[in-house]
Amino acid sequence: MTYTSLQSPADKDYQYELNVAHLYGNLLNTYGDNGNVLMMKYVGEKLGAKMTFDIVSVGDEFDDNYYDMVFFGGGQDYEQSIVAKDLPSKREPIDRFIQNDKVILAICGGFQLLGQYYIQANGVRIDGIGVMGHYTLNQENNRFIGDVKIHNEEFNETYYGFENHQGRTFLSDDEKPLGKVIYGKGNNNEDGTEGVHYKNVYGSYFHGPILSRNANLAYRLVTTALRNKYGQDITLPSYQDILSLEVAEEYGDVKSKAEFEK
Ligand code: GLN
Repeated sequence: MTYTSLQSPADKDYQYELNVAHLYGNLLNTYGDNGNVLMMKYVGEKLGAKMTFDIVSVGDEFDDNYYDMVFFGGGQDYEQSIVAKDLPSKREPIDRFIQNDKVILAICGGFQLLGQYYIQANGVRIDGIGVMGHYTLNQENNRFIGDVKIHNEEFNETYYGFENHQGRTFLSDDEKPLGKVIYGKGNNNEDGTEGVHYKNVYGSYFHGPILSRNANLAYRLVTTALRNKYGQDITLPSYQDILSLEVAEEYGDVKSKAEFEK
């Protein structure tokens, strides 16, 4: 899927409006990461928001005031090295965006580049933009590939995904993991962490795409963005109302909740 701008249908009435920047969406999109955009759009519309997505790429300005949410996908080392050259030009607004508690979803390569540095498979170091504390080492002739399942204690939520990365990421003291690994390799196959949760930045190695496989996380991200913009006390449809497995079962989308949660 390649696009420059994607919008909710113009002929509907929406109560809210969210503008989403898809950072380097024309360069970083491995293993269906763009599906996260479709899921954000789906959930946003269910919540009554008109959703607009723009690819903000090399040479483009990133306006942290205009955008309410960011999606930053994963990529091969080659594309990452191109992105790494442009990223410093967007460092200040991205940093402000994070410090203002705005929502970012960063997957794999995007997650790595928000941190201090990333060592490529060939041993060459590329700088991240250092707006977060984590850093990423390489490994020799190996990748972490396979299904992965984690649990987030703070939210008491379980997330499922598929990982494929050579980088081994280590979090800084002020960063929490997105979850503890139940099975799979996670950030580095050593400390049992997967991804990152810092302010409203959610980073992860999960492809799949993460939001389509984990509607609970999609709901969390989009409702957080809406409450940031329109006030913490707005009344929004509940997760049960719009996304629960019971709703999906009603429409015959899944066989059974028990089977899905295995
Ligand atoms: N190139 C990075 C790595 O191999 C990121 C991979 C990805 O985004 N899927 O670790």
